[in-house]
Amino acid sequence: NRRIVLARRPQGAPVSGDFRLETTPVPEPLDGQVLLRTEYLSLDPYMRGRMSDAPSYADPVEVDGVMVGGTVCRVESSRHPDYKADQWVLGYSGWQDYALSDGADLMPLGYNPKNPSHALGILGMPGFTAYMGLLDIGQPKPGETLVVAAATGPVGATVGQIGKLKGCHVIGVAGGPEKCKYAKEILGFDECLDHRAVDFHRQLKNVCTKGIDIYFESVGGKVFDAVLPRLNTKARIPVCGLISQYNATQLPNGPDRLSRLMGTILVKRLTVQGFIIFDDYGHRYDEFAKDMSQWVAKGEIKYREHLVDDLENAPEAFIGMLKGDNFGKLVIRVNDR
Ligand code: NDP
Repeated sequence: NRRIVLARRPQGAPVSGDFRLETTPVPEPLDGQVLLRTEYLSLDPYMRGRMSDAPSYADPVEVDGVMVGGTVCRVESSRHPDYKADQWVLGYSGWQDYALSDGADLMPLGYNPKNPSHALGILGMPGFTAYMGLLDIGQPKPGETLVVAAATGPVGATVGQIGKLKGCHVIGVAGGPEKCKYAKEILGFDECLDHRAVDFHRQLKNVCTKGIDIYFESVGGKVFDAVLPRLNTKARIPVCGLISQYNATQLPNGPDRLSRLMGTILVKRLTVQGFIIFDDYGHRYDEFAKDMSQWVAKGEIKYREHLVDDLENAPEAFIGMLKGDNFGKLVIRVNDR
């Protein structure tokens, strides 16, 4: 049983030495337990938060503890009445080959699911995040302008496509020309701008001819700075993530801009609402599952995965994701094949 543990808490951007690969015996299930074999491991930005012991909405991973994460597993053996060998399940067994579960954290996926890994992305946590954040907090209306950052990741790509279904003018923000091309040509966004461009502020101004009604915030930093002056009165900002800040060890240099931010919130009467998907919306999962499975089945929402083979490559892939190296939902195919 290979497993990847947190070797030490990162200082700034994580490095490979913050993780450690260990080998342990495969555990034996007791009465009421299932033994899971991980097929797919989801790598998500929130894991950077779990590596830190700063106060947050969830407990950190302990040093020497197995890194947490959503997984799609096969039941290897079962002493639980509801689970049988070879069944597929969605679980939360972390960065390891095998894990035990009492069943409480599992969602059955059947014996022969079509795209089992989609339960970690479009049909799972990131898709749900996009759906609730945009529809409940963003309140999109036809003709409004929606700006979405990290536009080709599983959350952003889904936000923008739902925005199009709701009749919005959708402007993505992504890193590099290839991602921007994909957002326009495949995802159907009206525009997509490269946040690395030196004239990004000016480009955003040029394409937001009617201002911005919804900014789906996943990034923070420079992208937010460019968005703020373009917001319309009564604009909504679902604050989903701030990935450009996750590796920061101190506040940025420069003048304190808090009073300008608060002044804009007041004068423009902005709604700025943070959310943590399962804590705030867990009770509405069924609404999402019904709508999204239909949209995906009809081809109205497209989905791209970035698959990396082998559990041992998870640290490197995770470190890369925080810099934008992934193109689509980052998933580890745990067994090299
Ligand atoms: P993504 O695959 O979109 O996340 C990684 C992407 O973030 C990178 O590919 C990169 O895209 C972008 N990025 C990284 N650093 C920067 C930077 N400095 N400036 C601009 N963009 C950057 O992951 P997800 O879709 O899973 O997550 C998107 C966001 O949603 C994250 O902030 C995450 O924390 C948040 N989230 C929040 C949840 C909640 O409950 N509140 C639940 C799930 C996700 P690019 O190359 O295009 O810049």
